[in-house]
Amino acid sequence: MSLSSEKDGESIEIKEKLPLLPLRDVVAFPHMTLPLLVGRLPSLNAIEEAMASDKVVFVCAQRKPQIGDPGKDDLHRVGTVVRVVQLLRHPDGTMRVLVEGIIRARVRKFSFSHSISYATISTIPDNYEKTLEIEALTRNAVSLFDEYVRLSRKVPEDVTMTLGSMTESDAIANTISSHLAIKVAQKQEILEIEDLNERLNHLVKLLASELEIVRLERKIEGQVKSQVHKNQKEFYLNEQLKAIRKELGHQNEFANEIDELSEAIKKARMPQDVHEKTVKEVDRLGKMAFMSPEATVVRNYIDWLVSLPWEIRTEDNPDIEQVAAILDEDHYGLTKVKERIVEHLAVLKLSKSLKGPILCFVGPPGVGKTSLGKSIARALGRKFVRMSLGGIRDEAEIRGHRRTYIGSLPGRIIQSIRKAGSKNPVFLLDEVDKIGIDFRGDPAAALLEVLDPEQNHTFNDHYLEVDFDLSEVMFITTANILQTIPPALQDRMETTRLPGYLEFEKRAIAKTFLVPKQLKANGLNPDDLEITTSALSSIATSYTKEAGVRNLEREIASIARKVARRKASGNFMKTRVTAKNVEKYLGVPKFISQGVEIRSRVGVATGLAWTEAGGDVLTVEVSILPGKGELFMTGKLGDVMRESGQAALSYARSRASMLGLDRWFYKDVDVHVHLPEGAIPKDGPSAGITMATALVSALTGIPTKQDVAMTGEITLRGNVLAVGGLNEKAVAAKRAGIRTIIIPKMNEKDIAELQPEVRNDLELIPIESMDEVLEIALDKREDKVQQPGKDSSTFLAHH
Ligand code: ADP
Repeated sequence: MSLSSEKDGESIEIKEKLPLLPLRDVVAFPHMTLPLLVGRLPSLNAIEEAMASDKVVFVCAQRKPQIGDPGKDDLHRVGTVVRVVQLLRHPDGTMRVLVEGIIRARVRKFSFSHSISYATISTIPDNYEKTLEIEALTRNAVSLFDEYVRLSRKVPEDVTMTLGSMTESDAIANTISSHLAIKVAQKQEILEIEDLNERLNHLVKLLASELEIVRLERKIEGQVKSQVHKNQKEFYLNEQLKAIRKELGHQNEFANEIDELSEAIKKARMPQDVHEKTVKEVDRLGKMAFMSPEATVVRNYIDWLVSLPWEIRTEDNPDIEQVAAILDEDHYGLTKVKERIVEHLAVLKLSKSLKGPILCFVGPPGVGKTSLGKSIARALGRKFVRMSLGGIRDEAEIRGHRRTYIGSLPGRIIQSIRKAGSKNPVFLLDEVDKIGIDFRGDPAAALLEVLDPEQNHTFNDHYLEVDFDLSEVMFITTANILQTIPPALQDRMETTRLPGYLEFEKRAIAKTFLVPKQLKANGLNPDDLEITTSALSSIATSYTKEAGVRNLEREIASIARKVARRKASGNFMKTRVTAKNVEKYLGVPKFISQGVEIRSRVGVATGLAWTEAGGDVLTVEVSILPGKGELFMTGKLGDVMRESGQAALSYARSRASMLGLDRWFYKDVDVHVHLPEGAIPKDGPSAGITMATALVSALTGIPTKQDVAMTGEITLRGNVLAVGGLNEKAVAAKRAGIRTIIIPKMNEKDIAELQPEVRNDLELIPIESMDEVLEIALDKREDKVQQPGKDSSTFLAHH
């Protein structure tokens, strides 16, 4: 039997029994060319046989590709009759053949043999009617396939071009089927569908589902790709997120902070304008970057505004008597000062305002100025703050720096007020006499504003910008000396002098206050250490030389420390420090008690000086040497003192005849004025009369009286002018054992200021002229006056 088939217009005879070529993993379709690699012997022989005749073989797919020698059950029953169009023999015996599908065929019978197999077939005709449905299905299939080609990228793009030129639905279906990247079994399934309509239908469905798969594949591919990008992107985003979180975290912190500030503002009880300003600043802060420098500046500023005691004040103790009692409790003596304080407070209480003058305690260091201030605060029940003005040269220290840089702060006044925590503290301004002036403004002027009741209720600190009311603050000032306090400030102050203590006072202060205080400070009981009165005396005179009691307290502290150390190390017995054993604790005495000069008093006079350390006794020595009329001055003298020396000499010259001196006496001599113990620089005019007295004594050979000291400025004509510090000088004189003090008449009014102990023991003689001084100070008794030649000095007087 022979079958015929149309192919490319030529009719081919197809034998019923054809050499069989099993295909492992492909399905051949009619109209399609297919390259095959042939290696198995029956297959090679099948090709050889076909080549020998009409080149036609029957190919059909194996059910399982791995089987090497398939039997009938291993092969599909529908296959394709193909013609070999090309053949290439490889040296190893295998062949590469290109076959072209002719027609499908169904196997009726296989006949297998070792060398060659055959299939007996019936061809399946391709006849079909070109219905609209077939046309529609075809187009559908083509368009799906186009899309499939585009997406799958597994099919060469030119296939679609080939398809475009095809008209036969049958051929189109076969082309599509053969190019689809589907399993062998699926292809076989298509091959086996005889009806074209049915086959196209199946194909369209398959294409649709394949397309879906491909689309999905692409999508997944896209996702995988984007995953890679995403990974990088994620890393980047994560980093950003971290940054954002951080920022958000701060934002929270920030929000909290703003809330807290708003809360604090509510509690701060600020004046209206300050409140508004603060709220505005908080708003501003809210809009700033949390960590920015300007936020820090604003934050600090708000902190300051919020923390000031705008409306916080303490209640004053109304009981003036109790105030007096507390002052007594804290301080020994100082009766006058305490009286002043109590009077001052009483006036304030009655007038219900602080517009009165400001108390200024003037005196040497360690006399209790600061501790009186503290005591006043305690007595009134007010807070206490202290600010030292020593060395302040810059106005900004008082008034603050403008808020232009991060470190700027309010001035020390506002800082102290914040420290006090109330708007009515006792505010001690220490060392007003040490305030300076330079190019950075005048701190004294700023201070004046602080102290002026007319101005200080709207004290304007440069940093705060808003006014603070200082009118309820009780200012107290202290100074060592009055002279250097700017006069405008002096005008505002009511000065009270604390001249220093006499030895018996020091003893008492030590016994009642300093010793108990130091015992406590060093963890000792009163039973552990006793410092006898004699020891205290000895400490006050031999270990300290001061008007106040600061060093005395220091020495006591030193003893207490030594005892505390012994107590801490066990085996300890009560310690008793006496005048005899005090050296064991404090070492050799630092000062020899100062007595009055015993040696010849010719050319020597005792003056009184007043330095920042208090009053002091000062000795002036004058020697007359052969020479040419020059004046030498030695010792640590200031310019004013040198001028006093000149004035003293001029006075002596103008009084030459009265003093019994040759008119030209000074021509043949040099005058040497010396002030020993020059460790403390001395200056000021008050040694004038002392120098003149010593000079006259040296010139005339008349000694000066031992127990007379003097203070006063001298004019060229021998008038005596007022001096300062009489109180301190008197205390120092008494301490040194002086009994008579010559003072300028102009200072007579100051005598009332002196403590009774001082006033009663001293004879104070006010004088107006140098002549009077000489009357009192020179010891003109015959036996005392030295004759020329008896001393090294040259006496010029003719007695
Ligand atoms: P100032 O301020 O005058 O330099 P302070 O007030 O610092 O001196 O006093 C120094 C020490 O001496 C303080 O411990 C103080 O309590 C004490 N003190 C001074 N005078 C007396 C006194 N009259 N009674 C008790 N203690 C005093």
